[in-house]
Amino acid sequence: MKQIQMVDLAGQYEKIKSDVDAAVMNVIKTTMFIGGPEVKELEKELAAYTGVKHTIACANGTDALQIAMMALDLKPGDEVITASFTFVATVEVVGLLGIVPVFADVLPGTFNLDPVDIERKITPKTKAIVPVHLFGQVADMEAIMAIAAKHKLFVIEDNAQAIGADYTMSNGTKCKSGSIGHIASTSFFPSKNLGCYGDGGALFTNDDEIAKKLRRVCNHGSEVRYYHEVVGVNSRLDALQAAILRIKLKHLDEYAAARNAAASFYDKAFAGMEHIRTPERSTQSTHVFHQYTMRVLGGHRDALKKHLEANGVPAMIYYPVPCHLQNAYKSARFPDGSLPVTEQLTHEVLSLPMSTELDNEQLNHIAATVKSYFNKQ
Ligand SMILES: *Cc1c(COP(=O)(O)O)cnc(C)c1O
Repeated sequence: MKQIQMVDLAGQYEKIKSDVDAAVMNVIKTTMFIGGPEVKELEKELAAYTGVKHTIACANGTDALQIAMMALDLKPGDEVITASFTFVATVEVVGLLGIVPVFADVLPGTFNLDPVDIERKITPKTKAIVPVHLFGQVADMEAIMAIAAKHKLFVIEDNAQAIGADYTMSNGTKCKSGSIGHIASTSFFPSKNLGCYGDGGALFTNDDEIAKKLRRVCNHGSEVRYYHEVVGVNSRLDALQAAILRIKLKHLDEYAAARNAAASFYDKAFAGMEHIRTPERSTQSTHVFHQYTMRVLGGHRDALKKHLEANGVPAMIYYPVPCHLQNAYKSARFPDGSLPVTEQLTHEVLSLPMSTELDNEQLNHIAATVKSYFNKQ
C-alpha cells in the first residue's frame, strides 16, 4: 500500500506535471515574475469561475482578510462577529487592526456560524460579520446576509476552505461560495483545495467601488505610482504561482469530485457506528471536503487518534483550542464555557486523510483501522 498522508500533493502533481513544468518555465523565460499576464489571466478566470465581477490576487489568505477589513475602513474599537471555531487567521487580522473580535457559536451539525447567535451578539459597535466556510461547506449565507442587511453590516466570507462549493438560495438561485458577501477572501496555501506551490490568496467582490479600494490597499495604498492615498500593504501573488493556479483551476471541479468520493466512502464505512458522527451536509451548500471531519463521541477521540497513527493512518484535530481560549485572544467577554458548541467540538472532532489521490486500498485500511479501535473496546 502507498503510504497514507493527510494530503498527497506529490501524487496530484504527477498527473499535471507536464503542464505545470511548461508553465513555470514559460514564466521564467519571460522574467515577468510579479504581476503581468499570468496574474491578470488568473484573476479573470477566477472571476468567471466564481461568477464574481472582480477578483484581486494577493499574497495569502491572511492578508486577504486584513485587506478586506482595511478596504471597508474598519477602525480600532469596531466590532466584527466571527467564529471561534476556525483557523486563527480570521481572528488574528481583527486583532492586528485593533478591531474587537466578537465570537458567535457554531451549529453542531455543519460546524458553521449559527445565525441566531450572530444576531444575539450584535451591538451598536458591530460593523461586519465574517462567516468562515469551515471544512468545505458554505455557512448559512442567506440568513447571514438578511441579518447584515437588517443591521447595515458588511459581510466578508472567509472562503479559504470552500472554494468551488455551490450554494442554493431558497428561491432556487445557485451561486458559488465567495460570491454572496460584500467581499470574500480565499487562500491558495498548498494544502487548500485550490493550492499553489507556495503562498497565495485572493479577494472577490461584485462592488466596483470596493474592488478599487481592495486593489489600492494591496498596492501600498496607491492607484497612481508613487502617489499614496491611504495606508496600504504590499501583498501580491507572484506570476509563478498564478501560472500553476491557472492549471489547477481547470481541475478544481474534478478535484472536488475526488474528495467527495473519498467522503462518501467514509460515510458508508462509518454509518451506524455508536461513537462516530459523520459530517452533516448543509441543505443549501454542496461540500468540497477541504477536510473530512467527524465527531468522535464518548471521550474516545484522542485514543482513536493514537490508534490510527500507530497503524499508519495520520489524523488531525482541526482545531484543538478555540480562538476565544487561546492565550493571545482570551478576554473576560468570552470566558471558558461561553461558546458551548464550539468548546464541545474541540473535544470531539477528528479529521481523516483527505486528498484527491486516496485509493481504495488506502481508504479500506483507514476504515478498517477506525473500526478495529472500537472492536477492541
Ligand atoms: C488557510 C486559512 C486562512 C489563511 O490562509 P493563508 O493563505 O495561510 O494565510 C484563513 N482562514 C481560514 C479559514 C483558513 O483555513
